[in-house]
Amino acid sequence: MEEKRLEQNKHLRDKLNQMLKEARRNEQTQTSFDNFSLSVVAAQGPEELFNLLLTDQKKFRIDEIRLCLVDRFHEVERLLTESYQNKYTGLSFIDTETSNLLISDMPDMPVLGTRILTKYDWLIGFDDENNYKSAALIPLKRGKEIIGVQLLLSKDVDRYNRGDGTTFLKRLGAMIAISIENCINRQRILELGYQDGLTNAYNRRYFDERLKHETDRCVRNKTDLVCLFIDVDFFKQINDKHGHQVGDAVLVRLVALMSEQVRSSDIVARYGGEEFAVILPDTGIQLAHEVAERIRSKVEAQKLIINDNTLGITVSIGLASLSQIRYQIESDEKDHLHAMENLDQLLLGKADEALYQAKQTGRNQVVIQKMAS
Ligand code: GH3
Ligand code: MG
Ligand code: MG
Repeated sequence: MEEKRLEQNKHLRDKLNQMLKEARRNEQTQTSFDNFSLSVVAAQGPEELFNLLLTDQKKFRIDEIRLCLVDRFHEVERLLTESYQNKYTGLSFIDTETSNLLISDMPDMPVLGTRILTKYDWLIGFDDENNYKSAALIPLKRGKEIIGVQLLLSKDVDRYNRGDGTTFLKRLGAMIAISIENCINRQRILELGYQDGLTNAYNRRYFDERLKHETDRCVRNKTDLVCLFIDVDFFKQINDKHGHQVGDAVLVRLVALMSEQVRSSDIVARYGGEEFAVILPDTGIQLAHEVAERIRSKVEAQKLIINDNTLGITVSIGLASLSQIRYQIESDEKDHLHAMENLDQLLLGKADEALYQAKQTGRNQVVIQKMAS
């Protein structure tokens, strides 16, 4: 009798211990989830946020994660990805023009289970979709608007079940959406500080930073890069003859024209007054020369009619390439390393010298940097 009671007691004690253990584990998981949500909201920029969502989040027994954002005005992707080099597998953007159907197919509430795997196979994409046995699809909502979805994938068929509660995931989705929107707004503001108020071209501050960034990148990737320096010919006369406002309108028109002649990945900046600088990354000297010549001839051909005045505008362009600068440094610079650190400034200086040559020898022309013999 006594023995039986002792055994029963032991059994109850074990059970209690087990329950306590589980409660402690649950509490730890909850704390860990809470900390994660807090760091998502506190993320200081797109890179930190994507690291949290696509990498750190995997610690919650998730095998793979996809994040797909809706790009309504073709700006979200650019704003969120141009500030860093990393490419995130798992991150994608879809725009309203080409993917309206996919967007309208996004659920309003989190959906769990196995059916998602076939229904949203386009989201799983590059990996073998058969690897995954269950998934959770979480809409990222701001108000009523869905700004994206997050897909959590598991190789464990029991990880996400249709009947599981979704309150936590719903809250997480809302927090992620807030954080993404914050990041977009922050990047927008940053970019505004980089814009020239008159022409909407990038300003000099942005140009200088970006030139450094792009030269470093092209050196790393062993590609060439070209910098153009462009100055309006006899601009003072236009101001004097037609007034400052007409001069301003000419500058605005010129930026639009230059932007039309380059790729969207090239950078057109107003360097100051009536001087512009263009970065053509991953571009060799020959192609860049064609681009520069196209800009020059389009400006010349275009007759600007402003206030009944037909204006004949021309520009002079200086061109310098990274590969030529590097060649020069390697062949004649004693202080190699120092010169390599200032490649961007050397490049700009050479383009400026070439522009000076273009001005000296007749204007309305493209001059390529002179090479030391
Ligand atoms: P060059 O062919 O040698 O370049 O002759 P230029 O007259 O263009 O050269 P200069 O540098 O002497 O004149 C530039 C003029 O650009 C002087 C300045 O008043 C004018 N300018 C600078 N910024 C602005 C601006 O924002 N709006 C207008 N309308 N004019 C500007
Ligand atoms: Mg000038
Ligand atoms: Mg000028």
